[in-house]
Amino acid sequence: MQSPIVLPSRQVNVVDRSDVVVVGGGPAGISAAISAARNGASVTLLERYPYVGGLAAGGMVLVLDDMINGAEITVKGICVEMIERMERKGLAVVPSENDRTIEFRDTPEAWQRWARWGLFDFHVQSNPNPHPVCYAAAFDPDAFKQTSYDLLTDAKVKIRLHSWFSSAIVEDGRITGVVCQTKAGLEAIMGSVVIDTTGDLDVAASAGAAHTSSDFILTTVSRWGGVDTDAAERFEREEPEKFKALDHEAKRLIGGCWSFWWLKTPLPGIVWLNCPHMPKLSGMKVEDLTAAELEGRARIGRLLDFARENMPGFEKSYVVDFAPQTGVRQTRLLEGAYVVSKDDVMHRRHFEDTICRGRDYYTPYRSMLPKEIDQLIVAGRHYSATPQAQKSSREIPPCMAMGEAAGVAAVVSLNGGVTVRNADIAEIRQRLRAQGADPGDIPSANALFLEAAE
Ligand SMILES: Cc1cc2nc3c(=O)[nH]c(=O)nc-3n(C[C@H](O)[C@H](O)[C@H](O)COP(=O)(O)OP(=O)(O)OC[C@H]3O[C@@H](n4cnc5c(N)ncnc54)[C@H](O)[C@@H]3O)c2cc1C
Repeated sequence: MQSPIVLPSRQVNVVDRSDVVVVGGGPAGISAAISAARNGASVTLLERYPYVGGLAAGGMVLVLDDMINGAEITVKGICVEMIERMERKGLAVVPSENDRTIEFRDTPEAWQRWARWGLFDFHVQSNPNPHPVCYAAAFDPDAFKQTSYDLLTDAKVKIRLHSWFSSAIVEDGRITGVVCQTKAGLEAIMGSVVIDTTGDLDVAASAGAAHTSSDFILTTVSRWGGVDTDAAERFEREEPEKFKALDHEAKRLIGGCWSFWWLKTPLPGIVWLNCPHMPKLSGMKVEDLTAAELEGRARIGRLLDFARENMPGFEKSYVVDFAPQTGVRQTRLLEGAYVVSKDDVMHRRHFEDTICRGRDYYTPYRSMLPKEIDQLIVAGRHYSATPQAQKSSREIPPCMAMGEAAGVAAVVSLNGGVTVRNADIAEIRQRLRAQGADPGDIPSANALFLEAAE
């Protein structure tokens, strides 16, 4: 490492001012912005890339899951609204209510129909299938972008793309705005409340909030076209031994993947590959992110050659695209007013300040609040959790639920004339219920109550 240089201080133009400034236009950010705006706040949404949607759009992560507790749908609100809008356009696929019934969801027919969509509850074992079919959605990435724009513009959110957050403006322990790097130079955007939804805790870290740093696997997601998915599924079903041998070799070439290395999408003949798994690389380092792009492409190239030559259904397949956004699952994590543990998630601990939920677990408001900085809320995959807990609680729908709750919390605090730390929990929950979300205030029968005993 060379010795550092010192930059001269610079004057920065203030280009916008809003009640709520949301930094990062991924699943958590769009939900936070829509939710705050629908509750009456002026809202600016800042995003570094030329599109919103985060990993669900640019990252081409194309299954919305972790939103059910048995037969109960636990993530609702904006997430379900988006699924239903995409579904109406034929750009999202959800197992029908009938296919999700207790009588049908574990049957071989259910598995045959839905396994290659990835629409099953992988946290629950079932018999004779590995997992039961459940409420979840396979969707198209551009539909996620367009639906986000539709909801954001309807709610009158001011969207500023091409704005790369660079530093937080903090005065007397309170965040008052942010500075972005843009083509026009540095720009300041001021806000009464700032919501950090960058996924990497960029804003809170810059503001001085305590955090930990962790890594998980990186992935260069790709989509392939020209796949005869019927032929591929038929081969898997009718010649299981041959399939197993070829699938084993495919997985060896990938060098790390989940049980299904390809899944169907709503576009006929187009599949997505949630692989390879590349461990020991950091989503915060330019060198590692660059290495991941090159290594991921090389592995997928080898896999494509093998699949075209050997796998029924893949004879005419080709790469449609690699996700423009590298698949980063975990980087900085907030060490907030409460740090969610793996036990909290796995044992479904309910909290007195629960304001949202995912799958069967509950998220306390304190895990969205930095200890040191006022008027800053954190929502999404960088929330205050241990690395192990985050791995089990970072899927897109729970991040959307957290964003939706953060947007409401911002407005409740502004209306009440109090800091976000003192926002009225009962009112946040009541507003969330009124707008169709589930704030987790009414725990399900399998919730664990520890806090009351402490
Ligand atoms: C390969 C992979 C597979 C996954 N599989 C699934 C799955 O099947 N189902 C599922 O539900 N979840 C899955 N996940 C997890 C899920 O995608 C993420 O946890 C979720 O998208 C997090 O949402 P978020 O809004 O917190 O963050 P992100 O989606 O990361 O969004 C953050 C946004 O902030 C923007 N941003 C970041 N830094 C700045 C900055 N400095 N200035 C301005 N903007 C900035 C980004 O560009 C982005 O738009 C997967 C993740 C990966 C990587």
